[in-house]
Amino acid sequence: MSAVLYTRVPEALKQALAAHAVGRGLSQTRAIVELLEQGLAGSADERSLAELEGELARSHGELAATRVRVREAELALQAAREREEQSARTYAAFAARARQVLARCPRCGKPLRGSDLLVTGRCPHCDQAVTELLAPAPRSALDQTEYLALLGALGLLTGLALASAGEEAG
Ligand SMILES: [Zn+2]
Repeated sequence: MSAVLYTRVPEALKQALAAHAVGRGLSQTRAIVELLEQGLAGSADERSLAELEGELARSHGELAATRVRVREAELALQAAREREEQSARTYAAFAARARQVLARCPRCGKPLRGSDLLVTGRCPHCDQAVTELLAPAPRSALDQTEYLALLGALGLLTGLALASAGEEAG
C-alpha cells in the first residue's frame, strides 16, 4: 500500500535526487523512499545514542556513590574490629588480674586467686566458702549492700573475662 506525498524541495536538491536515482538504477520514487527511510532510521539511532549516553552518565554517578558507600562500610568494619581487639585486650588484662593470688584459705592455708574469691566464692583445694574474706571490716565506711552488689557485678565480669580468655572460671 502506498500514499502520495507532495513536497516542495529546492531545485538543486531535486537535481541531486535525480542524479542519485540514475546512479543507482532506481526510479525517483524508489530512491526518495530509501533515502527517507535511511534518514528516519539515522534520526532514531541518534536519539537512542543520546539515551545511552544519559544512561552511562547515570551509571557512572551510581558507581561513584556505591564506591563511597563501600568505603564507608570498610571504615565502619575496621573501627568495629579495632573495638573488638581493644575489648579482647581489656578482657585478657582483667583475666590476668583475676588469676593473681589475693589471699590464703582460712581452712587449708593454700593460695586463693581473685577468681576464687569473686566467681566461685570457694577454695579450689578444700571447697571452703571464702566470700567472707571479701566482707568489709565492721568499722569500714562501705555501704554493705552496695559493696556486695559491686562484688557480684565484679564476679560476673571476672567470669566473662576468664571465659573470653578461654579459661575456666574456677
Ligand atoms: Zn582451702
